[in-house]
Amino acid sequence: MEAGIVGLPNVGKSTLFNALTQSQSAQSENYPFCTIEPNEGIVNVPDERLDRICKYIPPQKVIPAALKLVDIAGIVKGASDGEGLGNKFLSHIRQVDAIVQVVRCFEDPDVIHVSGNVDPLADIDTIETELVLADLQTLENAISKAERSARSGDKEAKLRLVAIEKCNAHLESEQPLRTLQLAEAEAKAIHSFGLMTAKPILYVANVDENDLDGKDPLVDKVREHADKVGANVVCVSAKLEAELAELDEADREEMLADVGLEAPALSTIAQGAYKTLGLQSYFTAGEKEVRAWTIPLEATAPQAAGVIHTDFEKGFIRCEVYTLEDLEAFGNEKEIRQAGKLRVEGKDYIVQDGDICHFLHKI
Ligand code: GDP
Repeated sequence: MEAGIVGLPNVGKSTLFNALTQSQSAQSENYPFCTIEPNEGIVNVPDERLDRICKYIPPQKVIPAALKLVDIAGIVKGASDGEGLGNKFLSHIRQVDAIVQVVRCFEDPDVIHVSGNVDPLADIDTIETELVLADLQTLENAISKAERSARSGDKEAKLRLVAIEKCNAHLESEQPLRTLQLAEAEAKAIHSFGLMTAKPILYVANVDENDLDGKDPLVDKVREHADKVGANVVCVSAKLEAELAELDEADREEMLADVGLEAPALSTIAQGAYKTLGLQSYFTAGEKEVRAWTIPLEATAPQAAGVIHTDFEKGFIRCEVYTLEDLEAFGNEKEIRQAGKLRVEGKDYIVQDGDICHFLHKI
């Protein structure tokens, strides 16, 4: 899962990105397929359920789920025309699964705001406009090719053309594509374009550290807007996170308690990103390793197994499942089995958030 952090200059993107990647940097050897560029970081997704499992099944190694964050600099007004870093940022955004937009809600006379005053809705609008324009350009480039192929009888191209036209009309009315309902086949036909306004978005309201209770009227405005466009909002203070990232674990806990926070921003953002992307976690637990795996809501047991290894999906036989509550009630797998609580599920089973699974598969 990859999330791209965007925002206007001086809203606190880099401060937040550095704080997140510094404090919770994941061990990259656990994720061998990820190449990491300088503006990227892999962070562990904090999950208190892992600690609860480890109490009963102490493993040699604990591997949380991971989230790849990409700091995408360069969106300013006119970016889609090549202003600022211009089109460079576009290729980055095309690759991510979700967009995390940092919006400035903090007041600080020492930090210049690019357009003069703190106005999160205007900031959201500026970025959205650039992304809408960029998507229109992408479609403009694609349309003549699709037209040619459609004329020569290519069925898929005809479908693509219909989808392109629907998207074009929507974008021209200045609406992001995430608010357009396309048929599944249509969405698939244009998936490879990486249209940016179709990607789920999470707004991170960067507030003053005294406003973390979420009652800041500026945050309310962001929430209102998010509700309209089907997005989620989380509230963080990048400045406070930067301070927290400098501390060791014990001091960090103390400071969190002092400011009345339960968890650092990473948890809040990771949870927001999961929600935005329709994701959940299941676990595998053994003496060697207790590990969280990320799957889409509604994933079947074979699909969940496929996240561990594609062969597990192809060769799926069945899955043994129990819940964390079962583990806490009975203490170990043997007792869970004896109590008849260890379920055996087949290929149609829809894996539930927090399930502890063991897959049986053909080799
Ligand atoms: P970017 O351009 O969006 O990456 O912004 P930066 O992270 O570089 O931040 C720009 C300036 O704003 C820096 O001087 C930060 O220290 C400051 N800043 C970032 N977040 C906050 C915040 O939550 N409160 C205050 N007061 N200043 C912040």
